[in-house]
Amino acid sequence: MYDLVIKGGRVIDPAQRIDGPRDVAVSGGKIVALLPDIPPGEAGRVIAADGRIVTPGLIDLHTHAYDGFLNNGAPPDVIGVNQGVTTVVDGGSAGCALFTGFPRYVIPGVRTTLYCFLHIGSFGLAVMPELACAEEINTAATEALIKQYPELIRGVKIRLVGKLISRAGVAVVRTAKDTAKRLGLPLMVHIGDRNREVPPGLTREMLPLLEQGDILSHFCTGQFGGALGDDGKPLPELVAARDRGVVLDVANGINNFSYAVSRIMLAHGLAPTTLSTDITKSSVAGPAYGLTVTLSKFLALGLPLAELIAMTTLNPARAAGIGDRAGSLEPGRAADVSILEIRTGRWSLPDSPGELLSITRLLRPHLTIKAGVPIAPDLVPIAEQPQP
Ligand SMILES: [Zn+2]
Repeated sequence: MYDLVIKGGRVIDPAQRIDGPRDVAVSGGKIVALLPDIPPGEAGRVIAADGRIVTPGLIDLHTHAYDGFLNNGAPPDVIGVNQGVTTVVDGGSAGCALFTGFPRYVIPGVRTTLYCFLHIGSFGLAVMPELACAEEINTAATEALIKQYPELIRGVKIRLVGKLISRAGVAVVRTAKDTAKRLGLPLMVHIGDRNREVPPGLTREMLPLLEQGDILSHFCTGQFGGALGDDGKPLPELVAARDRGVVLDVANGINNFSYAVSRIMLAHGLAPTTLSTDITKSSVAGPAYGLTVTLSKFLALGLPLAELIAMTTLNPARAAGIGDRAGSLEPGRAADVSILEIRTGRWSLPDSPGELLSITRLLRPHLTIKAGVPIAPDLVPIAEQPQP
């Protein structure tokens, strides 16, 4: 007898190369079986998933979830389990001087699993743009803190913005990279400078520093410092970075996502490795909404659903170094499951420059299972456009 069975859905689990009808059995908070047909009588509770998509619990690799500490920090469950996302990764909201609120006050009260990238600047994103001066970086304290929280901190974050980077350029990135490398962790690098202050060649100079597993955030930004060359094509350094296994992350956000750049990247074979939201407290009400909305945008841009699921399960699990515990429905693992539905209609979703993308398929969570416990989504509605 299983505790619960998710019955009749299309299971997409790229980690196990499954895409087809399966029933998912859960007992004791763990996945215990994936079978073509489990009789309802063998389940304490049956969750009907006919016509729906059943995936490993979605992972949002880039969020801002320092709830109660930074004014843009979203409550983790609002951007997590409420959105069909069972694991969120904070993209460097905190640096070493103000990190411990995460383990002490934020994490104990939430159901969504949370991991962090630690900002190389001691104060993280408390004042933006950060890194006004060299004194904001304390590599010894950063390393000591990461050693104190080896489970929770999955990498180091830097943004190519601010006065210090404008003055000292790639040397600052090298400091962050060296720190991450000494700890065997990936570096996550934000590109896109709205203030147009950083050296014009910085992104080209920085990309060769990135190694396999490092993460390039906002690779589809249309801002100054983006990843297109003067010829309007992807930088050769970007192509080389992708070829050696650098993770290309969308980090949708408010300022650094362009459909036009996304189309150019896709046309040159540069698909995202991971899809993430860069969601904050205010953008939950739009334009970010939640991870499945970013998925819907790339569905409309032409990526197949199964690839989109890999970009939000297997790939971010690997990128965050949690592939052994998240991103798969393999029996034995914690039962983190997302049940999704595709709604049809007409919506238009803006990017940062203001282009409106018309979509006809909106992916939304139907039910989230976190460690075996079903949680109903809580979504901000997106206004439907009248039919033409
Ligand atoms: Zn961010």
